Amino acid sequence: MAMSPLVPGSTIGILGSGQLGRMLAQAAARLGLKCHIYADVSGPAFDVAAQRTIGSYDDLDRIRAFAKNVDAVTYEFENVPLLAAAAVEPYAPVRPGPKALEVAQDRLTEKCFISELGIAVAPFAPVDDLADLGKAMERLGTPSILKTRRLGYDGKGQVRLNDRAAAPGAFAAISGAPAVLEGFVRFKYEVSVLVVRSIDGANRFYDIPLNTHRNGILDTSTVPSPLPAANAEKARLIAARVADALGYVGVLGVEMFYLGDDAPEPFVVNEIAPRVHNSGHWTMDACAISQFENHIRAVAGWPLGPTDRHSDVVMTNLIGQEVERWPSLAAEPHTCLHIYGKNQARPGRKMGHFNILRPLSGKSAR
Ligand code: AMP
Repeated sequence: MAMSPLVPGSTIGILGSGQLGRMLAQAAARLGLKCHIYADVSGPAFDVAAQRTIGSYDDLDRIRAFAKNVDAVTYEFENVPLLAAAAVEPYAPVRPGPKALEVAQDRLTEKCFISELGIAVAPFAPVDDLADLGKAMERLGTPSILKTRRLGYDGKGQVRLNDRAAAPGAFAAISGAPAVLEGFVRFKYEVSVLVVRSIDGANRFYDIPLNTHRNGILDTSTVPSPLPAANAEKARLIAARVADALGYVGVLGVEMFYLGDDAPEPFVVNEIAPRVHNSGHWTMDACAISQFENHIRAVAGWPLGPTDRHSDVVMTNLIGQEVERWPSLAAEPHTCLHIYGKNQARPGRKMGHFNILRPLSGKSAR
């Protein structure tokens, strides 16, 4: 596959029509690159793209026709079927490559892959039936968390187990799907590393945000985080090891639990997101080049842009009806409002976010 950069006017295909696709297409437009969105439903990315196709991800003829019409393909969600990515590859490079999809789509594969790299993950055991769950609970104790191997996100597809008696109900709650049981990690706080890897294998990092969640959904990302500088470096090395092992191209989000300075392993990797990540939305306003533009640059084979931050920032998600706060948020000073243009504010749905900027404090976790 040609390694020469895509010239302005070229088209990047994006699989998925959600808000991440929308913000990728907006960033691409700044560089004179067009986007063609392929998705099974119309979504917020459709409003800002040059071309759109509605088709199933299993309709490989359609996927091939789409691939023939674009110069490179990326994706904005990790559940793109591997067969769809494989169908694209003869016609256009897929960045990041299918290996990242394969690893991130299955929690068991992901945990094995990460721990084989010598990186700490929560203690875990595969669970295919109730007997496995009983044995896993004996080994990992309670509390523990039962998570489906596939298709879980924003706390969906997972159940916390506080005692042995909860096992049958928990297994029924995930409909008996193949799962992993995870031991409960007593972390100090959650962080994520946003690494962008170029086509020639260079890694750059954004500052590491501290993330808080509400009802299993990301609520805020705050930069700078209180993470000590030496540990921030450790976290970056972990993310780089994952990105390198995947031969990754683009932005990779690596979610971690921070256990504290005195823990033998200060970080436990929770999961990886082979795409731009919600905990990187602050980069849109606190950095000259956002995660979205750097992802597009990497996918297009361009030089990466700077990842430096010019402001302190707190990003807050607007979930469901919270988007109705827009009139007051629009009037707030130092506040950058982003609304995704979704028509229905269903509970739990990410409708927008806002970034509150403050002058750079000098405390940086870089
Ligand atoms: P996940 O869907 O794996 O990202 O999990 C959603 C949230 O649940 C995480 O951001 C944590 O706050 C919490 N969580 C998940 N796994 C564990 C664990 N093994 N120990 C403690 N908390 C967890």
